[in-house]
Amino acid sequence: MSTPKQVIVIGAGIIGASIAWHLVKAGARVTVITDSETGGIATPNSFAWINASFGNPEPYFRLRKRAMAEWNRLAKDLPGIPLTWCGSLCWDMPAAELEAYAAEHSSWGYGISRVDREQAARIEPNLVGLPGFALHVAEEGVAEPVSATRALLADAERHGARITAATVTALVETDGRISGVDTSHGLLSADEVVIAAGVGSPDIAATAGIKLPIETPPGLIVHSRPYKKLLNGLVLAERLHMRQTAEGRIIAGADFGGADPGDDADATAGALFAAMKAMLRDADGLELDFHTVGYRPTPIDGFPIIGRAEGADGLYVAVMHSGITLAPAVGLFAAREILDGERDPLLKPYGLARFAQ
Ligand SMILES: Cc1cc2nc3c(=O)[nH]c(=O)nc-3n(C[C@H](O)[C@H](O)[C@H](O)COP(=O)(O)OP(=O)(O)OC[C@H]3O[C@@H](n4cnc5c(N)ncnc54)[C@H](O)[C@@H]3O)c2cc1C
Repeated sequence: MSTPKQVIVIGAGIIGASIAWHLVKAGARVTVITDSETGGIATPNSFAWINASFGNPEPYFRLRKRAMAEWNRLAKDLPGIPLTWCGSLCWDMPAAELEAYAAEHSSWGYGISRVDREQAARIEPNLVGLPGFALHVAEEGVAEPVSATRALLADAERHGARITAATVTALVETDGRISGVDTSHGLLSADEVVIAAGVGSPDIAATAGIKLPIETPPGLIVHSRPYKKLLNGLVLAERLHMRQTAEGRIIAGADFGGADPGDDADATAGALFAAMKAMLRDADGLELDFHTVGYRPTPIDGFPIIGRAEGADGLYVAVMHSGITLAPAVGLFAAREILDGERDPLLKPYGLARFAQ
């Protein structure tokens, strides 16, 4: 029997957690290194909508759709993962664009229904100001991001993974191969290193001369105090996306990526919360508890970076927006590629090499 591969995963957000879990389940010896609490940095500040929705080319739609299916597989393998297919009601673009999106995505096999005001009111009876025409996507959902991440890490630990609190300061290279990491607590070596460090990834990659072209746009989300159930699913209204969390908080952003906090984040949060409250019936007692400003780890072309870094053997990179949607597929595919050298065809467009062209 061959010795299990030793893999260091930098990052304990949803991407690092999913990769670590899939690696451990496939027999690798894994050390996760994080300089934040388990649960990550972008991950706790996410809207956490799982979707293969509008605005993406077909190959990316296919990856996202596959990731949605992989969430079901993960929920079966890891009971208790906080996943719900609550559906979405969407009218955040002009009717002609909604129609075009519905026609295109339906032809790709996405389950979209056109609904009128009465049907929309049956789906979300507590909304004020429903439009005459909206789209309902029953197959979209939510995974509560911190609980899902912690469930993955806890199960990975049960299967032998080590979670280490430290800051990675540099990648270590030996004979032209990445052989480990230097950290605030000393050197650690491994057969492979995975960078899944969200917005911290470019600095780590740069220590081996690798450029990760990512942007970090901010996104503000307001959180109410827990409240009685008002929403059944995701609501994607014009300039206001909201949902109710598993603990009963109603959260909202100006879009699912969060509002731009502007110069005065408190004022932006207050205005957003007021707009959200005005859209809800029976919400007199709804109170703003807090807001978050998260920074989205977004490759400059908007698509994920997943794969080996060319010219740096022993190094794998996984940095992306829409990490909540993509996590189960990214974990599965990365583990296969790292351990068996088998790259899933759905990842073909998403290597780092595309930026060199
Ligand atoms: C406002 C907002 C809304 C969003 N909405 C959605 C949505 O609706 N749907 C969706 O699919 N996605 C959404 N996203 C995107 C999604 O949340 C992210 O893609 C995902 O959380 C990224 O996870 P991650 O594990 O890569 O990064 P993170 O959660 O940021 O985790 C990074 C990890 O790396 C560690 N780290 C970093 N640097 C170092 C270092 N030098 N040494 C050691 N550890 C290090 C950190 O401590 C942390 O553990 C949203 C994001 C934001 C901010």
